[in-house]
Amino acid sequence: MLGLALGLVLGLAGCTAAPAREHARPQVVATTTIVGDVVRQVGGDAIDLTVLLPAGADPHSFQPTPKDAARLADADLIFINGLGLEGFMERLVQGSGDSARIVALSDGVATLAGSHEHEDGRPAGEAGHQELDPHVWMDPGNVQVWTRNIAAALSAFDPANAALYQANAQRTDQTLQALDAWAEEQIAQIPPAHRRMAVDHQVFGYFARRYGLEIAGTVVPGSSAMGAPSAQALAALEDAIGRLGVRAVFVGNTVNPSMAEQVARDTGIPLVFLYTDSLSAPDGAAPTYEALMRYNVNAIVEALR
Ligand SMILES: [Zn+2]
Repeated sequence: MLGLALGLVLGLAGCTAAPAREHARPQVVATTTIVGDVVRQVGGDAIDLTVLLPAGADPHSFQPTPKDAARLADADLIFINGLGLEGFMERLVQGSGDSARIVALSDGVATLAGSHEHEDGRPAGEAGHQELDPHVWMDPGNVQVWTRNIAAALSAFDPANAALYQANAQRTDQTLQALDAWAEEQIAQIPPAHRRMAVDHQVFGYFARRYGLEIAGTVVPGSSAMGAPSAQALAALEDAIGRLGVRAVFVGNTVNPSMAEQVARDTGIPLVFLYTDSLSAPDGAAPTYEALMRYNVNAIVEALR
């Protein structure tokens, strides 16, 4: 009840744009729904959390509204994935010169290069500077790094609740360890010769590294989901699918599936839907990070074994 009342008060204060309002709790903004869920696990009721992107939104191409910009301006802390995933944040930070409140959760992760971007000879990403694969959450071990970064940032800003944040982070860490062990067990059911994926964009690199799968090819070149395949690149992918005996094409929930549908049609293998760059809606199949991973692992094992 206290939380509800507080939320109403802050909500009303926001509507009237009251200056210098008292912050009862840290005002926290998270970019994607996946970042938001993990921040919620660690911050719990001690923070007032706004998740910027709606479920299903593509973080690579997201453009903040003026209302979003106001939320970012008001925030005490802004949690982002980093590694170039949220291009709009880089533009905002460059515009404002204000980076002190921004916490990149993927700092400290052993990163992968955004591979396949050079294959068609074009520069990587929209602005030609994207070099690393930002989809680190596909390995729960990397999300353990996130939880440590979240707990450290919240504790530094709000030392009175540091013990709570550390306890929440520890509990989340245990959940992630169990999730990882479960995923490993499930993937073991796939015969080694079947452990190959064709994917809409380069989103399963960390997953493949952790669980011993191979990315046979991507429909769209690179990690950004914003490129468009050439006819030659599509033909090469379809050739690789046939040559390697790839058993399914996987398409994520934040991209237009039409190209992946075409590849599946041309090659006669199933198109399998996964949750990649966003959670589902709260009443959907992947309303939390853990549910997203369990959904994806189950679907991948079902398609490849
Ligand atoms: Zn992506």
